[in-house]
Amino acid sequence: MYFLTEEERKQLNKGYLPRSRQMEIAEELRGWNWHQPPLAPVYDLKLALYEVANSYCTSNRDLYLKRIDRIKTKPNLAMIRGKVFHEILVRVLVRAKRLIYEKGVDHFQEILRKLSTPLDLNFLTVYRSQLTEEEFSELQKRASIIANFENARVAARIQEILVKQPHIQEDSLATLAIPVVVEQKLDGTFFGLSASLSADAFTFSEPMVLDLKFGEPKKFHRLSTTGYALVMEAIHEYPINLGCIVYAEFKGDRLIVKKDIHIIDDELRQWFIEERDQKMRMIYEEIDPGLGNCYDSCPYILQCRG
Ligand code: SF4
Repeated sequence: MYFLTEEERKQLNKGYLPRSRQMEIAEELRGWNWHQPPLAPVYDLKLALYEVANSYCTSNRDLYLKRIDRIKTKPNLAMIRGKVFHEILVRVLVRAKRLIYEKGVDHFQEILRKLSTPLDLNFLTVYRSQLTEEEFSELQKRASIIANFENARVAARIQEILVKQPHIQEDSLATLAIPVVVEQKLDGTFFGLSASLSADAFTFSEPMVLDLKFGEPKKFHRLSTTGYALVMEAIHEYPINLGCIVYAEFKGDRLIVKKDIHIIDDELRQWFIEERDQKMRMIYEEIDPGLGNCYDSCPYILQCRG
């Protein structure tokens, strides 16, 4: 899912990349300037990146209830699905890299054969008690569709590279076939964020942060890629100008994948910092923001609406 199609790659190379290189980003909004305003956090608090970026509750009361009233909720179906589907991708991509290193290029047929065997989905059983029979069986089915889709994509990429590169070795094959780091761990304490952030994926063939979403596209989703880009700029001291939200949804048994590639411009950077500051203030000063535009599956619906 993190791999670009031919059309997306063309769009990236001929559109987003040149535009992002020409675009001037205000120096004070580059992550490496984390130690001075406006990036330096005003409050001595640590937020998870998703706590800054998510605005499913329009008033942010969900964050207030979690952090001030310390209310713990059970994950809803959408949260469980998202967690499981992310985990599937990590498992598929890590397994594929491991196979390349363990088997070696000379045994590529075995790599391809193993990639065509179904992923072990036993880890899903921990969710059985939290879901109805129907929901659980649907979760298993969709998890298996995602795993098969991704395995086939990886296998095709390995074959494409092998036919072009007769002398390639394991390290290069793994890097070219799967040019992403999944679940990259980052320390966001510079920005008042958690010390153990985890970016869904980072592709090093073109420095771009990827975030995977299962569900309806929302404008604020771009805040996740923006937050990770700022943190990476702070850690590595090089510019990250591009983000990509990968939207995956099911139409019946069909998996549909769309990508929102975007430039991480001044507007997004400012928006992220404003959200962080506003949410930190709400927590620091314990200001109950009141009800937002509630949605039925909000895990706090009982506390807010009774
Ligand atoms: S129930 Fe409504 S106000 Fe309460 S957290 Fe959820 S969306 Fe926000």
